[in-house]
Amino acid sequence: MKLDTETKDRLIAAMAQAIASHAGELTDLDRAIGDGDHGSNMKRGFDAVLADRANLASKPLPDMLKALGTHLVMTIGGASGPLYGTLFMALGKDIPAEPSLADAARAFAAAVNAVKARGKATTGEKTMLEVLQPVVDVLQASVSNPAGLGDRVKAAADAGLESTKPMKASKGRASFLGERSIGHLDPGARSSQLLAHAVIGVLAAQPALEGGRLS
Ligand code: ADP
Ligand code: MG
Repeated sequence: MKLDTETKDRLIAAMAQAIASHAGELTDLDRAIGDGDHGSNMKRGFDAVLADRANLASKPLPDMLKALGTHLVMTIGGASGPLYGTLFMALGKDIPAEPSLADAARAFAAAVNAVKARGKATTGEKTMLEVLQPVVDVLQASVSNPAGLGDRVKAAADAGLESTKPMKASKGRASFLGERSIGHLDPGARSSQLLAHAVIGVLAAQPALEGGRLS
């Protein structure tokens, strides 16, 4: 699938909009089990991305993703800045300019593995990985059976987010709370789920994705 400049621009705008319109909620979630800055951190990052959107959208997909990740590393801060930066930079490193669904699935899996390595974390620790890993799994399963891909990605992200509620955090600031982290959604899982919905919302409108096919 070749993403034209307009679609890349829409992807950037949709991700930034999803974060900006939920910044208060992300901060409230982080106030409950962290230090109350996840919304402002993410908004700062995606505001920087939005400010550079014309330049970013004009680049080939791999370069756009790498540059987007660099903006996030430089502006989000906290634990999530390096992790989201790694996600987008690693994705840009692995994805071809015109990816097939198999290419996208493989590159996204590599990017999430890079996040795991960067944060020395895995699933079950109440982090953004609770959403990112199920999305990897759906993408990989969809390569041979792409029907309903967008809806399956959104459902996997939603279920992954909900799964964080009963978990006890063992990574990041929430881990300082021990048992008291139980019963709250993880803020980074919520931001990942918001980004997944935003990306699917744009790509689902692409003719190339109709019927769940990426190419
Ligand atoms: P900080 O915790 O430094 O204040 P943020 O509030 O911006 O940073 O981000 C917190 C989120 O980062 C958490 O909700 C969690 O999803 C994610 N996170 C923290 N540590 C890790 C880690 N080691 N691996 C994956 N995600 C992590
Ligand atoms: Mg925080």
